[in-house]
Amino acid sequence: MRGICPNCEKETELELIQKVEDIKVRSEIIKVEVKYYKCKSCGEEFEDPRSDEDPLDKAFREYRRRHGMMQPEEIRDFRKKFALTQNEMNRLLGWGGATLSRYENGALQDETHEKALRLAMEPRNLLKLIEATPDVLPEEKRHRLINELRAAEEETCSLERIYEERFGKYEASELSGYRRLDLAKLFNAVLYFCKGGVLKTKLNKLLFYADFKHFKDYAISITGARYAHIPFGPAPDKFVLYFATLIENGEIRVEENVIGEFIGEEFILVKEPDFSLFSDSELKILATVKEYFKDFTAKKITDFSHDEKAYKKTAPGDIISYEYANELKL
Ligand SMILES: [Zn+2]
Repeated sequence: MRGICPNCEKETELELIQKVEDIKVRSEIIKVEVKYYKCKSCGEEFEDPRSDEDPLDKAFREYRRRHGMMQPEEIRDFRKKFALTQNEMNRLLGWGGATLSRYENGALQDETHEKALRLAMEPRNLLKLIEATPDVLPEEKRHRLINELRAAEEETCSLERIYEERFGKYEASELSGYRRLDLAKLFNAVLYFCKGGVLKTKLNKLLFYADFKHFKDYAISITGARYAHIPFGPAPDKFVLYFATLIENGEIRVEENVIGEFIGEEFILVKEPDFSLFSDSELKILATVKEYFKDFTAKKITDFSHDEKAYKKTAPGDIISYEYANELKL
């Protein structure tokens, strides 16, 4: 292609070079795809001035993703949600003047700052910060926020209580893929698989394969759900309650349908899934599982799952250990 070479200062023949570069972020090597141009007449290498892709920025993003850290826009969105200025947020957290602004603009946050931010994002903690440093906010704003945060906290608490009563509570272990049950992820994974309609018995297997496949590849499940050995194959241990909750919330609806050789409850999507809850690896696995089984009937995926060691080595009613994921057929 032809373009302007900044060294020759005129139009020359340019070669687009794409390669993977190692970038070191806090003693970790991160591979980043970089693109640049090379002038064929003088050999000068230079970046596309119109491109907004910064390799270091990409490396930081990947690093944050791997370590479950917040991305710059998450930090900004949180601050804006409460209409706090960068300066106010900085002072609430007790940070130096430009710290928050640097993070919102892409600097990599240090670990103590990441933890402090995470904590501040919980309504009850932000409330404490605001109450502990009353001079940071103008009075009217302070009162408004305090009321908002108290209401938000009450709402989370009562919802948590209802869900805990309904679904029970368990710690992360090999039975949950070393994650605590994340209902938001579980529900949105259901919504993802319901797109286009899916029979309940197939849906149970899709969830099982998504969680177990993610555990196989990344040593942690996606949703923290536990799976039980039931006659139709593996299924989330409280699937009846999970699906009932989604129906009650108006996020999916059920139709009695005949599909292939199965008569069953078909789940239809009402509300679009929220993909922002999932990491890149989780989205990849969800898509892989959906694609792999797209032409499987409920009967075929049931037979397929019956052949898993996770199923054959467990007894009816057992909770299936994620340790079996290493021998998953997928
Ligand atoms: Zn040149």
